[in-house]
Amino acid sequence: MLGQMMTQPLLISTLIDHAERYHHDTEIVSVNTMDGTEVTSWGKVAANARKLGAALTKLGLGPQARVATIAWNNRRHLEIYYGASGAGFVCHTINPRLFPEQLVYIIDHAEDQVLFIDKTFLPLVVKLRDQLKGLKHIILMGPCDEEAAAQVEGLLFYDDFIETGEAGFQWPELDENTASSLCYTSGTTGNPKGVLYSHRSTLLHAFASNTPDCIGFSAMDIVLPVVPMFHVNAWGSVYATAMSGSRLVLPGPDLHGEALVKLIDTWKVTLALGVPTIWLGLLGYAKQAGSTLESLKRTVVGGSACPPSMITEFREDYGVDTLHAWGMSEMSPLGSVNHPLAKHLDLPEEEQNRLRESQGRPPFGVDLKIVGEDGAELPRDGKATGELHVRGHWVLDSYFRKTRDETLTDGWFDTGDVASLDPDGYLTIRDRSKDIIKSGGEWISSVELENIAIGHPKLADAAVVGVHHEKWDERPILVAVRAEGADPTEAELRGFYEGKIAHWQIPDRVVFVDALPRNATGKVLKRDLRETYNEILTETV
Ligand code: ADP
Repeated sequence: MLGQMMTQPLLISTLIDHAERYHHDTEIVSVNTMDGTEVTSWGKVAANARKLGAALTKLGLGPQARVATIAWNNRRHLEIYYGASGAGFVCHTINPRLFPEQLVYIIDHAEDQVLFIDKTFLPLVVKLRDQLKGLKHIILMGPCDEEAAAQVEGLLFYDDFIETGEAGFQWPELDENTASSLCYTSGTTGNPKGVLYSHRSTLLHAFASNTPDCIGFSAMDIVLPVVPMFHVNAWGSVYATAMSGSRLVLPGPDLHGEALVKLIDTWKVTLALGVPTIWLGLLGYAKQAGSTLESLKRTVVGGSACPPSMITEFREDYGVDTLHAWGMSEMSPLGSVNHPLAKHLDLPEEEQNRLRESQGRPPFGVDLKIVGEDGAELPRDGKATGELHVRGHWVLDSYFRKTRDETLTDGWFDTGDVASLDPDGYLTIRDRSKDIIKSGGEWISSVELENIAIGHPKLADAAVVGVHHEKWDERPILVAVRAEGADPTEAELRGFYEGKIAHWQIPDRVVFVDALPRNATGKVLKRDLRETYNEILTETV
């Protein structure tokens, strides 16, 4: 016997329909690339998305044609998210920080037919145009611009283009498993791999994001997604906020500390999402400018390990609660978020604070396990450390144009992270498996050593990598960036580790650099550091 309840497909168009109907005058602030800061609303974004959906349909692209974007977080980008996916196309968000040859590779691999660009990226597209043979239309996200038109043959303009679509356009009724959007991983090794999300996975991810122990966006929130919309759909925040009817502040191109502090203070942002390096810049500027970040209540920090010193600074100096989250493109991205359990509230404050440092526990819909080298599951005792495998409603089944067998291991996705799980499911990421340091048969977590170093007041940034050692195979070295005006010594930094970790884990050397090399998603390129410094310990023996 079947249940007798309605079945409605879980479609992205229903999110924007909901926002249009129930939150139509809820404001969306957008820092645009070409035409200043504007205040729009969910109602106006929905109306434009509908016209865009109609205009794209008229191009005759075919079902699930890929419609790509190279753009900042702004309202036109938001309209494309809903207009393209809602009308049955696949919204392919491209990370502009990829190397040009990777950009050409993914545009070709995805078979993108339409490309929307912010003006910032016009020179890039002009340079690559001849190599992008499959592209049928390039659309500049703004009003008509003669200067730009002269540079790209057949260039269209967003504001004119959407006027070719009817306001009364009806979203198609799609199967909820239809592909909706596409992101490529940043690919530190080999070519980037595509993750093809569905309408269903996107909606289930949004539902989960909105539970109180996940992010829990609310209609009372003013949300600043600093995490780019080209980086796993701004961690799904632009979908989850349509569901909750939150106000949005879309920050545009400038993500420096000063610009962000001004946006938070001007628009009274309550909740912001971003990677740790972004918050380092923001905290630095807030301190210098004397801002108290008064409106800000919560930050969601993920993408790399959040240093405990950052959680403390947010809490003690600004009264901001940091939600440390872990995930990846292959998981849409949410895998875990750190919130306490009821039983933790009786613990001493110090102990509670320590518990808030891990990557947290998974929401319903994601399942985690750790396995040893033989593939057998390891105990959830907070100590055993192994490869982290995941499965769930918003975890990929296979990479775009690859098979399930090439992607999964026994029905689980191997994250490439090395982690432990405690009996309550709290996850601690020890390292990427390729970055963990193997010193004389013992493992050293580079993440743990970095977290300590970043807590040193004389350092602005730090990375730890394993380099070749004649006796121990590998030993850790610290690659450090001095804080402005500070001049720490090697002995001082090595001494800072005393008492915090076992003596044999202390990095053998400290190297000072001006900046750390980072990939397109802001992660430190440890492979480059290893190549540069691999012989540094043997050279001096
Ligand atoms: P994203 O594009 O969301 O950064 P990627 O797929 O590029 O995701 O990278 C995911 C990887 O980033 C994870 O496998 C993990 O190694 C790292 N990562 C993400 N969040 C955290 C975190 N909170 N702590 C430690 N590592 C993290």
